[in-house]
Amino acid sequence: MKKVQFNDSFQRINYLYQISKLIINKNTALSSYYGNLIINVAKKNVLKIHPDIKRQICKKCRCILIHNVSGKMKLKQKKKSKIIEWACNTCGTKRTFPANNNKDHRVWVEKPEAVVEVIN
Ligand SMILES: [Zn+2]
Repeated sequence: MKKVQFNDSFQRINYLYQISKLIINKNTALSSYYGNLIINVAKKNVLKIHPDIKRQICKKCRCILIHNVSGKMKLKQKKKSKIIEWACNTCGTKRTFPANNNKDHRVWVEKPEAVVEVIN
């Protein structure tokens, strides 16, 4: 069986992400703590966090953003392009992501050609 480098770190990030999401409606501070751990584990091992996870973590307080629970998502029109705006309920930080129909806003790892090999 092929070995994945830093596999235990990836598993730890996955686990921390799940508990952070579970705990968010009970304790936002604890959720931020786990979010903080995710960033620290990734930084320590120089790993990239998958964009799906990264987009859900507040940039400032690092809690998990869930619509109507810990944050608010709004669709906005800015000039001629559409954007998704995420506002964090805990610290008030706003993040925007582009969201146009006719444009491909996926980052490289989300595109099918980024997958070289699937290891089970
Ligand atoms: Zn926040």
